[in-house]
Amino acid sequence: MGKSFTPYRITAMAVDPIHVGAGGGRLGRVDQSIVRDPVTQVPKIPGSSLAGVYRAYAAMAKDRYPDCAGQGQPDKQGKGGHCGKRDCPICTVFGFARSAGGGFAGLAAFSDAHVLLFPVATREGPVWITCPGAMRLVGAEIGGLCDKAVYRSTVAQSLNLGWLLLPVKKYPNDQDPQSKLNELQIPEYICRNLAAVSDKLFPHIVNSNLEVRTSVSINPETGAAEEGALFTHEALPRSTVLLWEVICKNPTHFRVGNDAVDEVTDMEGVFDIVAKAHPYFECLGVGGMGTRGMGRLRVFSSKESSASANQTGGA
Ligand SMILES: [Zn+2]
Repeated sequence: MGKSFTPYRITAMAVDPIHVGAGGGRLGRVDQSIVRDPVTQVPKIPGSSLAGVYRAYAAMAKDRYPDCAGQGQPDKQGKGGHCGKRDCPICTVFGFARSAGGGFAGLAAFSDAHVLLFPVATREGPVWITCPGAMRLVGAEIGGLCDKAVYRSTVAQSLNLGWLLLPVKKYPNDQDPQSKLNELQIPEYICRNLAAVSDKLFPHIVNSNLEVRTSVSINPETGAAEEGALFTHEALPRSTVLLWEVICKNPTHFRVGNDAVDEVTDMEGVFDIVAKAHPYFECLGVGGMGTRGMGRLRVFSSKESSASANQTGGA
């Protein structure tokens, strides 16, 4: 039967600020916040948002499947919606909502996108901050960081991270994360300007250095600005590095209705269809506020991550 799934690790950088809203009124008066991890309070992009974007862009790349791109709800006349056919690359890889034989979960699953490296302005220029919890996602361990210092490969008296001034220390036991990040094809100018802080300090630094923009709500009926509708929204800043995983399941283990999946025969084939979306991320982006110049992502690398230290199995 062979193995049941292959995880692929994707790293990408924000080309624009990225806003993935936490829900609520799209143009309401309340300030728009972004989705955060409930445990760490670090902003993230939910896997469900990624899945929707991947589906739409893969369908665009494949061209012949416009009805299979969206959420699959047929219109009032019962037309449109996912085709649900076993030879459809979009429906087999991303699943479908309905068909005679019921729905199908799809051969690809998407983790949340986590912040791996977060850019902060310092008097030395931008420095990308990480923490042990984030580096563990790429199989690197940095242990023994105290909460009141910043760790770097070069020693200096102190470094300001935005408004926060911290003493600089060397990574304990030479646990410099740089070599691991080089492996992930993170650009050199980022790898040369790294620093690490403790898991406790990281969310504070991220949340106090988010990009905050102020906009005016436009009344969709009149096209005019609504009175008192100035609102702020937050976003992950440009050049934030994100990481997520795409789990590709073995097509030979699945059936669509009573039949074998026809379009793809192995896990690499599943990932090939998923990866067709990557060039579109850089043009069309993820998340909201696309019309306000937000959301574009450049994918650096995507590779099989079977050596991942935090493999959860299942999926
Ligand atoms: Zn389809």
